[in-house]
Amino acid sequence: MGSKIRLTGRIIYKGDPGYEQARQNWNPYVDTFPLVFVFAQSTKDVTNAIEWARKNNVPIRARSGRHALDKNLSMVKDGIVIDVSDMKKVWLNSEQEMAIVQTDIQVGPLVKKLAKVGYMVPFGDSPTVGIGGITMGGGMGLLQRSIGLISDHLIELEMVEANGIVLNANKNNNSDLLWATRGGGGGNFGINTEYCFKVHRAPTEATVFEIIWPWNQLEKVFKAWQKWAPFVDNRLGSILEIFSENNGLIHATGLFLGSKTKLSSLLEPLISVGAPTKVFIQELSYTNVVEYLIPNEPITRRSEQNYKISSAWPTRLFPDEAIKIMRSFLEESTGTESSFFFLNCGGAVNRISPEATAFFWRYPKFYLEWNTTWTQDSDASRNLALVSRTRQQLSPFVEGAYVNSPDQNIINFGPDYYGTNFERLQSIKAKYDPENVFHFPQSIPPKF
Ligand SMILES: Cc1cc2nc3c(=O)[nH]c(=O)nc-3n(C[C@H](O)[C@H](O)[C@H](O)COP(=O)(O)OP(=O)(O)OC[C@H]3O[C@@H](n4cnc5c(N)ncnc54)[C@H](O)[C@@H]3O)c2cc1C
Repeated sequence: MGSKIRLTGRIIYKGDPGYEQARQNWNPYVDTFPLVFVFAQSTKDVTNAIEWARKNNVPIRARSGRHALDKNLSMVKDGIVIDVSDMKKVWLNSEQEMAIVQTDIQVGPLVKKLAKVGYMVPFGDSPTVGIGGITMGGGMGLLQRSIGLISDHLIELEMVEANGIVLNANKNNNSDLLWATRGGGGGNFGINTEYCFKVHRAPTEATVFEIIWPWNQLEKVFKAWQKWAPFVDNRLGSILEIFSENNGLIHATGLFLGSKTKLSSLLEPLISVGAPTKVFIQELSYTNVVEYLIPNEPITRRSEQNYKISSAWPTRLFPDEAIKIMRSFLEESTGTESSFFFLNCGGAVNRISPEATAFFWRYPKFYLEWNTTWTQDSDASRNLALVSRTRQQLSPFVEGAYVNSPDQNIINFGPDYYGTNFERLQSIKAKYDPENVFHFPQSIPPKF
């Protein structure tokens, strides 16, 4: 390794102007004090930063959209954060129906840019999540039942590995790395600088919906949703979010790739439950669908509250005992953004086998996460303990966890995040990062 390596790109050291802004993430809970940020302008800046860090023995983290949900993943105290967020270009190849994107375009701007020219790719529920991070864990959202996960659309990537070498991975070259990047979790193998996604022709119109109920109808609404959402027409994606009692809201939303008339009849089992205070069903042009579901937010938007999440995959529909656990969590967690969040699975997600990509959890009926929020530091330990205790209580009814909603209290994280794909991921880690340069809490340990 040359001794004259220096950092290139936009560099911000501790104490420089811009440092405070650079160290702010979506979740204040994960903020810390790195030594230096490198905002790469090109792949070469990433290479230089990795070489510099290794020469100076400084811990490395990769960062794109700043939405990591747990500590020390895209931030590290006294280390170097290699941030690709100045690299946002998108090139659409409409003949081959694919888009090449630099890894820090955020999901909202990417999806909207493509929608304007008539193309559709899956997206999650936040416009400001980085495509860099969300793709690597899977990338779930309302289109997953109709067209699959974000990572199911990844066909090629460019990555800088631990020796600063730039690799391309696709079905012919480094196909194991492509497999691992499709669900193997952020930051494990190297720093990704470019992705190539398959895109779909967008429908001209689609239909969105929103239903709100008062909190005291929790049991009725949840039971109706879980009996309906995993089994309904595969063109329908639905999120159910039940907020804390303190917030008082039960909110269902969704997207249907079909007409308003058809959706209205599909929604009947849900709308007829309890006494909704809002029922909104609207057919929109596809570009307006995207604007509606992920409205523009300032790129640097940050949660006002600290946020601790855990996630799991229900093995069967929730019995009353599990619903009681949910209720008591939502009574105890007073944060206004605290919630239980559900997204229906099935359809295109389970048309791919769990071993075909690193994303293992393809058969659950729905995805589940629960989170607490707080503002005062003195409330942190109570909230962290509540999330953990709830995980333990729910354990008879759920399996595993989603690596994009990580929880560092999970001890057996390998099988929990990756199921039986964990061993293969460990071998791929040994091949591409044998010295375990990219290590962080719950990173994949190499296995030779
Ligand atoms: C408000 C909010 C909404 C969300 N909604 C959804 C959703 O609907 N669906 C869903 O699936 N997930 C969702 N998530 C989870 C999200 O996918 C993960 O938090 C994801 O890791 C964020 O990626 P990022 O690039 O924004 O974050 P970052 O903090 O920049 O990075 C997160 C992880 O990815 C790694 N990483 C980032 N960029 C690179 C890179 N270029 N190369 C290698 N490693 C990299 C980091 O090292 C870190 O481990 C949401 C999160 C939040 C906070």
